[in-house]
Amino acid sequence: MKSDYAKLFKVARHARILEGISSHLGWDQETYMPPGSAPIRAEQFETMAGLIHRARTGKKFENALKKLIDLKTGALLSEQLSDPQKAALKEWRRDYLHQTALPVSFVEKFAKLTSQAQSVWRTAKEKSDFSAFLPYLKKIILLSQKKADLLGYQEHPYDALLDEYEPGMKASTVTHLFSQIATALRPLIIRASACKIKDDFLKGPWDKEKQIAFGKEILTAIGFDFNYGRLDFSSHPFSSASHPTDSRITTRMHTAHLMDPILVILHEGGHGLYEMGLPKEEYGTPLGEARSLGIHESQSRWWETRIGLSLPFWTYFFPKLKELFKQELKDIELHDFYLAIHKVSPSFIRVEADELTYPMHVVLRFELEKQLIEGTLKPKDIPEAWNAKMQEYLGITPPTDREGCLQDIHWSMGGFGYFPTYTLGNIYAAHLFTSFSSTFPDWTAKVAKGDLGFIRNWLHENIYRHGKRYSIDELLKQATCGRELAVQPYIDYLSQKYDCTLPNAS
Ligand code: ZN
Repeated sequence: MKSDYAKLFKVARHARILEGISSHLGWDQETYMPPGSAPIRAEQFETMAGLIHRARTGKKFENALKKLIDLKTGALLSEQLSDPQKAALKEWRRDYLHQTALPVSFVEKFAKLTSQAQSVWRTAKEKSDFSAFLPYLKKIILLSQKKADLLGYQEHPYDALLDEYEPGMKASTVTHLFSQIATALRPLIIRASACKIKDDFLKGPWDKEKQIAFGKEILTAIGFDFNYGRLDFSSHPFSSASHPTDSRITTRMHTAHLMDPILVILHEGGHGLYEMGLPKEEYGTPLGEARSLGIHESQSRWWETRIGLSLPFWTYFFPKLKELFKQELKDIELHDFYLAIHKVSPSFIRVEADELTYPMHVVLRFELEKQLIEGTLKPKDIPEAWNAKMQEYLGITPPTDREGCLQDIHWSMGGFGYFPTYTLGNIYAAHLFTSFSSTFPDWTAKVAKGDLGFIRNWLHENIYRHGKRYSIDELLKQATCGRELAVQPYIDYLSQKYDCTLPNAS
């Protein structure tokens, strides 16, 4: 006789398998699907979405879940549960309540509006015509406010939206963290961007085969197992995994810049490693899922910036890069290369921003989003507010809305609450790094010898293997001997790096 928990596990695993199939369809759409297949792919997605929704919210799942946990109060109803099982049940209940809080009619209306809005946004962006997108954006904001009401919140309506991506995170916490970042980084950006650094030699054209061969070499070095993963190409890089034994990542072709695909590969590789490290035996339970978008991003930024932009990393890998590009890099020394990849230059486009200016793009979007959701900023005033903040934070004003408020797809998709996770990932990574570097005070010496396996092992031990066993707060505290999350390690890291590195070059 199967236990109630085993029965629930089986039903949930079925839903997870359906999600995996759907994510494969998404991967294929972005990589190899012939363009003419788009209409049938849309139908396939719709079919899968229906199946997944039913598997996650249908009677079979509900009945299995409510045998073990009271859906209203969250009280556990069985004596025989282990601690991990209790944690899994709490997460299952949370997901279930989320999925059922929004009436199907609302979900359909939202999906229809945002699917239209995305194509309107594309044209509006091309023509830099904010007024064409405005009527759709207004409706999306109204529906997002409604969504916040339906999901429920205590302090601020934005909390409900943020909670979808970063469970438990509050707008007030993000405001507190981000305002410290803005205050600390503004003077640093001014100083660092005044430095004259030669980076012309990074501009191509570069041989893409060699770029990718190098990317694969570093992926292997960080522990990405090609037996269970793939690297492909897409115009927008992403990672998707249907199981810990099948983790796919992509990079974009960018032969005009040496480092672009390499850093993208490290970034997506960080996401991929996390998925590969989730416990297989928990596949189908929340304990086999990544904790949150912010924690996911902490893993990608960890490899991309904390390791991939570190001097010891390039002490080991730069000679290999030079070996590959003998002619192009023959006169370049490690020090010049290291400075060049840290050149700071305020720019309009978030996805092209350097490490130091990037967080300001996210702070700006968060502040506007919060005001839009609480109703203190009118949608029609976005371009003006956007440009004022760009001037305030980065000292530049976009000449057009295409390079300003129309640049990102997120709002047209109704993704209010998503942006903060990018910078939260950096904050988490820096927080975790304090603990990692005190565990391995010699980490720089090891990395300079090409030893990276111990890093992946530390992340596995502290992050990957736990899935959603702990809350974000608990997970971060456990990994850092109980330290409260603070923004200071992130600010310290950027200050030390950009204040020390750059004056030498001016
Ligand atoms: Zn990412």
